[in-house]
Parts: sequence; C-alpha cells; structure tokens
Amino acid sequence: MKFKCLITINSIVWLSTISNIIPTTQLGTLKAVKDVKLMTTINQTELNTRQIGDPILQNPPIPTDLQQIDFINQEIKIMLEDQKQYGGIGISANQSLRISNPTQLSIIGTNDPKIRAEIAKRYPDADIPYETVLINPKILAYKTGYYPKTGEGCLSVLGPIRGKVKRYQSISVSYYDKNGNQQIADFSGLAAHVIQHECDHLKGIVFLQKIFKDCNLQQRKTIIELVDNELKQRNTNVLNANLTSPNNKPLIFDRDHDQKVTFTIPLLSWALSETPTITLLGIKKMGEIIN
Ligand SMILES: [Zn+2]
Repeated sequence: MKFKCLITINSIVWLSTISNIIPTTQLGTLKAVKDVKLMTTINQTELNTRQIGDPILQNPPIPTDLQQIDFINQEIKIMLEDQKQYGGIGISANQSLRISNPTQLSIIGTNDPKIRAEIAKRYPDADIPYETVLINPKILAYKTGYYPKTGEGCLSVLGPIRGKVKRYQSISVSYYDKNGNQQIADFSGLAAHVIQHECDHLKGIVFLQKIFKDCNLQQRKTIIELVDNELKQRNTNVLNANLTSPNNKPLIFDRDHDQKVTFTIPLLSWALSETPTITLLGIKKMGEIIN
C-alpha cells in the first residue's frame, strides 16, 4: 500500500507541474492528465520509473553519502528490480519511483542471463557489461567520439522511442563501488555508452533533451504538434495505453555527422502512438521548455 501511495504522489506532483503549461483549451490533453492519475493508482505495477518531464528526474541529485553504504545497497536492490522489469541495460537512482530522495548512484550492465539475452538482441555486436554499481561517478576523460549503430532508449522514455546521441567510444571514470571503495577505470564500447547516458541522468538530463537541443525550431514544432495530436486522439481510458518494455524498433530520431537532426514523420507518429501517455506529456513539456 505504501508503494502505491508513493507513486501516486510523485505522479501528481509532476502532473500539477505539467498542467501549468498545458493550455486549458486542450481538453483532450487535460483528460489524459486526469487518466494518468487513475493509471498510477490502479495499474502501478506497470510503471516503476519516473518519466521524462518529472522534476525529480530533471534536478541533478546530490552526491551519495558513502557513510550510508547499507542504505545505498537497499536502493541498489530497488534499482536492480526496476531495471529487470524493463530489461534495461542501465539505471540511475533518480529514475526509480520508489527512491524518494535520489543521490548520485547508477548501475550499468546485468548478470541476469535472460536480460543479457534480451540486450544482446538490441546490441548484437556489443560486449554487454556485467553489473557494475557506480556511486558518485565522474568522467575524467573522453576519448574517440563515435555514433553508435543502434539508437539509445531509456527507462524514463517508455515505449519504442529511440535516438542517436553522440557518445564517446572510450572514457576514463572515477567512481565508488557498492562497498564504498574508490575505483578509477577505463570503459569502452557499450559500457562507455551506457555510463555516459547514466552520467547525464545524474546531471538531470534525459537523452531526448540532448536531441531536442539539436533540433531546429521547425523540427521541434513538428514533434510537439505530433505529440499534441496523439494526446488528443488518445482514448480516455488510459489503462489501454501500451506500457510494453522497450524493444528493438526502428529509430525515430537520428543525429548525423553535421549535427542536424533528421526523422521521418510516419515513423515518429507510429512511435508516439505506442508511447505511454505519461511519457508523451513529459516529451511535450521538455520540447516546449528547451530553447
Ligand atoms: Zn536513461
């Protein structure tokens, strides 16, 4: 019961923020906001991660107190459960709805054979990292830049939305492990990619925000219009919203070497139609506030 309440409170806090930026004339959108509250109460087991637009996700968390190592390990247990639910390859503490005061704490990789097999389908040529806890991580050095063949997704952007973000091939990272011991290590390939994604979370950044920043005004306007249309068309019964795990669907955003964002509208429309309402509301909010 306690768990249910936590999720509802978090969602309402976020939704009250969102409703401030939604014009009252958009009745369809407002109806969707109301229904999301219903969903988080009734069907909360479907949604354990904060979605883009949630203020807790946007605020950079404070450093983790290493004196609290037992408590940190309880949080790690929660994060691993949430990561497993969605078959994710990484998670940060500010993504877990059950962690109310997140600090700088991320996990990359997994030791679970089933999840490793799922991830291998999404990243067929990559070395999948084993579970690594990163407390207070800091990227000390970036090495060669590259554009991954496969776009990245996020447990805070549920649904089929993927995007390519410029990531570095190898990095050097300082962090504390789950026993509180300092480590300095080099990571490359997929592990480096995921660490960069998680370190963005610890700065309050979701990957779509990076892509939005590279969109020109017309592109951003087009995306927001598509999100708006989808929200208006959506059935009032949001329990029907598709909350499936991220899967290996085609990319809808791309970021090419001259830094211009390209996307196809039919593919984007399809991806938005498969995206949970709560996530769409966050994308709309982020698209409007980035300038
Ligand atoms: Zn993420």
